[in-house]
Amino acid sequence: MVQPSNILEKHNLRKTSIRLEVLKVFLYKQEALSHSQLEQEMNETDRVTLYRTLKKFEETGIIHKAIDGTDVARYALCQGTCQHHNHEDNHAHFHCNKCGKTRCLDEINIPHLQLPQGFEQEAAYLIIKGICKKCKI
Ligand SMILES: [Zn+2]
Ligand SMILES: [Zn+2]
Ligand SMILES: [Zn+2]
Repeated sequence: MVQPSNILEKHNLRKTSIRLEVLKVFLYKQEALSHSQLEQEMNETDRVTLYRTLKKFEETGIIHKAIDGTDVARYALCQGTCQHHNHEDNHAHFHCNKCGKTRCLDEINIPHLQLPQGFEQEAAYLIIKGICKKCKI
């Protein structure tokens, strides 16, 4: 199993307690998490430090923004192929309308789209809304 300390080592980041704790929460929850969700899961957290930690993780290719069509910014762990300023998270995100959770659908790739002439793509997002596996039961 992936350990928080391995992830930090791989990306050459110092092992601070907040970094380790944030990664622990991501690994445990296995879903995209917002700033306030993370705060709830952690012991005393300083908002600014948490904000900086998430920013650093995004920069270094550890987490990515899980765009899910809601007003809340959520982040999810990258699959391990992302590098500094070079994300490869080309997958769909699923948002459950019942439990409100967002998760990565790593098995669904965003298709390459042929844009009209003169347009250049910089990013594309695929959001799927519905009922997740757990809520379906
Ligand atoms: Zn990534
Ligand atoms: Zn659900
Ligand atoms: Zn994702």
